Amino acid sequence: MGPPIGRVSDLTGAASMRIGGVTDMSTVDWYGNVSLVVFFAGCNLRCPYCQNSGLLPLDSGQSVPLSYLEDRLRTGMEPVPQLDAVVFTGGEPLLQPDALIEAARLVKRLGLKLMLDTNGTIYEAARRVLETGLVDRVALDVKAPLDAEEYGRTTGIPDARKAVNSVDAVLDLTKDLGLEMEARTTVAPTVSDDPAFIRRIAEDIRGRVDVYYLQQFDNQGEVLSPELKAMDRPPREHMFSLAREALGAGLDHVYVKTRFEGLVRVQ
Ligand code: SF4
Repeated sequence: MGPPIGRVSDLTGAASMRIGGVTDMSTVDWYGNVSLVVFFAGCNLRCPYCQNSGLLPLDSGQSVPLSYLEDRLRTGMEPVPQLDAVVFTGGEPLLQPDALIEAARLVKRLGLKLMLDTNGTIYEAARRVLETGLVDRVALDVKAPLDAEEYGRTTGIPDARKAVNSVDAVLDLTKDLGLEMEARTTVAPTVSDDPAFIRRIAEDIRGRVDVYYLQQFDNQGEVLSPELKAMDRPPREHMFSLAREALGAGLDHVYVKTRFEGLVRVQ
């Protein structure tokens, strides 16, 4: 379906959303697609390796109307359609479920695919959003094995039991709804680079995800932890050995993503 005549955002009310920015064209946020990426402001976690720490406060970024997003999207679609998808990321987009749903409606009315990149820890919002049928693919950050102590350590929150239950439930919900699911773990030195840690994550998500990405921590940007800001990326060879741990735990499609070499499937 092509774009409708007239402006969609004029028809959908006065929704606004708080965002930290927009990347107009990306080929690396949803592989195989040319995507516009929207960074929602605010996050409920405090992962020490977070590279967008300026976006964590709920009042960070700026409030923009839906028409702002429509203008950016149309720039990528007219006169030559260059975009085929949109990625909502953050921060944590599910902190703004009403705005997210309105923005998702806009994306679908413009005939584009939509991926939601989420930490999965706000189950009720995830359920509301995913049950609309507006999201085609979920990119779920799996920060640690599904264990409250490990999750608390890697996300910087004192009691992570609810967060773990939510991530577990989002994995089930996404499968029940038949949506595509990619799981991602950021591999950061001293936090999430231990082979047994990755093996346990793989065991927890086995049979529940289409693909698993191991992302190499990078100390570029506004890294939350000063200790990690001073550390190097995990070596590429170590990333591959962690990927083999995940394969050994029974995952089928495992990829390593590094800053300079991009995405590589490990078999
Ligand atoms: S890395 Fe963690 S703290 Fe940073 S935006 Fe993602 S979930 Fe939030």
